[in-house]
Amino acid sequence: MTPSAASALVEKTPLETYVPPAKPSLIGLSRAQLCDRLGEIGVAPPQRKMRAQQLWHWLYVRGARDFSEMTNVSKEMRATLAEHLTVDRPEVVAEQISADGTRKWLLRLPSGGDGQKAHEVECVYIPETDRGTLCVSSQVGCTLNCSFCHTGTQRLVRNLTAGEIVGQVMVARDRLGDWIDRETPNGNRLITNIVMMGMGEPLYNFDAVRDALLIVSDNEGIGISRRRITLSTSGVVPNIKRTGDEIGVMLAISLHAVRDELRDELVPLNRKYPLKELLQACRDYPGASNARRITFEYVMLKGVNDSLDDARRLVQLLKGIPAKINLIPFNPWPGSKYECSDWDQIEKFSEYIFNAGYSSPVRTPRGRDILAACGQLKSETEKLSVRERNALRAMAMTD
Ligand code: SAH
Ligand code: SF4
Repeated sequence: MTPSAASALVEKTPLETYVPPAKPSLIGLSRAQLCDRLGEIGVAPPQRKMRAQQLWHWLYVRGARDFSEMTNVSKEMRATLAEHLTVDRPEVVAEQISADGTRKWLLRLPSGGDGQKAHEVECVYIPETDRGTLCVSSQVGCTLNCSFCHTGTQRLVRNLTAGEIVGQVMVARDRLGDWIDRETPNGNRLITNIVMMGMGEPLYNFDAVRDALLIVSDNEGIGISRRRITLSTSGVVPNIKRTGDEIGVMLAISLHAVRDELRDELVPLNRKYPLKELLQACRDYPGASNARRITFEYVMLKGVNDSLDDARRLVQLLKGIPAKINLIPFNPWPGSKYECSDWDQIEKFSEYIFNAGYSSPVRTPRGRDILAACGQLKSETEKLSVRERNALRAMAMTD
């Protein structure tokens, strides 16, 4: 691999050749659902719990890709399982590796019955010196149309299932060879952290995201601690408390503006859940403390939201909330109407916030050469007409 060039390892196969799976996969089922599935294929009730436990271990500790690997399960049982079920993950159709080591996978999923053959979604791995972060998608596309985000220009096609969300973690571990214990600078895993910051608004797909994250954080399985999982939302207020209560992961808020007028434009969901309500939900977030701060993401848009007055107002707004601020240099994409703030303006902004007592790291753009950086993900080039886009937006705002 030449370190200076991005490369595609898996050739992208044409969409027409996609064959949807004939049998359901076990990936993404809770333990109770796993027991039910075993019941359906004739496993007697007294055995179900023990079998489910065995399968759980093979799937989520060992990363088994085939029932034949499950050597402590009887041959007959393995044959019955294989007759009805699979342990398949989403199909990897392309893998790109950035010059900086970031990897992006394009995954293909069944369409969900809308007449299309298949859908595609992206997932990104970002290695750093002290951690390895996997950025996971929750939807194909997004209904919310934030004006600076590439994903928002894509038609929302559908929510991902819990299996497709867990499947992204499985694929990443497969491709990185991250199942077996190994010595890395960060302990024994390459993927140490998960961020729900890929395509889609996770809190508009709450149940599947919750079920998936409970599997990913289960310490008898994949075992990534909830403190190392961060869910980013553009501000779906009613589901913020549920995130704390039912999932218990770290919260990130895509703030991006400190006045409703501007936020209405950048993050249109603000018209439904304005700043005051959003910040109150943050104050009430279950489990937030100085040790477990809420991250406020703030994209730096030149001449739009990057003045020192904005910084001042930001500090005022966050008073009383255990917060850290993450400044994100705007990542341009084809056709975007914004520019990234100048570097010295970002530094001044960051310094102001730092002097006010907040940690204010600037997120280093990663994987820009393969369009893997924040807000650049987009799995299909199709653009919506203004009318279609408004219709989708109205749908999202009224539910
Ligand atoms: N839908 C969720 C999570 C996915 S976006 C959300 O909006 O929070 C992950 C982060 O990337 C968000 O903070 C989002 O606002 C930011 N982002 C989107 N487009 C961007 C761009 N072009 N440049 C930099 N950050 C961007
Ligand atoms: Fe959707 Fe998040 Fe992009 Fe907004 S920033 S369009 S909520 S993915």
